[in-house]
Amino acid sequence: MAGALKNAELFEVVHENSVRDALTGCFNRQHALDVIDSELRRARRSQLPLALIMFDLDHFKEVNDRYGHLCGDAVLSAIGQRMKAVLRGSDLKCRWGGEEFLVLLPDTTPTGAQRVADVLRKDIEDHAVRWSVADIDAGEIRTTASFGLATIAPGELDPTAIIARADAALYRAKEAGRNRVCLAGPSLVASR
Ligand code: GH3
Ligand code: MG
Ligand code: MG
Repeated sequence: MAGALKNAELFEVVHENSVRDALTGCFNRQHALDVIDSELRRARRSQLPLALIMFDLDHFKEVNDRYGHLCGDAVLSAIGQRMKAVLRGSDLKCRWGGEEFLVLLPDTTPTGAQRVADVLRKDIEDHAVRWSVADIDAGEIRTTASFGLATIAPGELDPTAIIARADAALYRAKEAGRNRVCLAGPSLVASR
């Protein structure tokens, strides 16, 4: 019995490690794709809304160039903490790659999702990261991020389509001057 429990615990640890990114605590890209796939099906069945946010840190290369990769890592880890603090437990938090993140918001209306994106944008802007190592004191590092937000089209089932729309909106947020939220879809609305 004890052996079976031990094995179950071990399985849980191994599974967690295989779906999570160690630096940020976020889920990895493959796991996110699996969840988006099943949430799209659920949304179609339930007729409930679903929203997806992609965001990317602004001028992040400068942080690495100025203070080093370890400092950049500390900023990424802090972003994971801010996501955990701001978002709901039921929201999927994913490190999509590098300094780009994805959030899936089940049962969330477009208006609600826009509010969430803007709260997270502001929270990241407001929380500087303190970092120092040996003789390098980076002091307070301020970071901002650009956001793209997409909501599901009726009956939509293809994860790559909604991700592509959010990504295109994120690109527009960068073009429009960064540190803002842009919405995907026919009506382009930017909030700041
Ligand atoms: P933009 O506002 O256009 O997004 O500019 P940017 O500098 O953020 O974008 P760019 O794509 O030029 O640079 C991304 C940087 O993110 C470069 C890369 O080294 C850094 N990066 C990606 N993954 C990691 C990581 O795991 N740790 C650290 N420290 N840096 C990372
Ligand atoms: Mg960037
Ligand atoms: Mg990037």
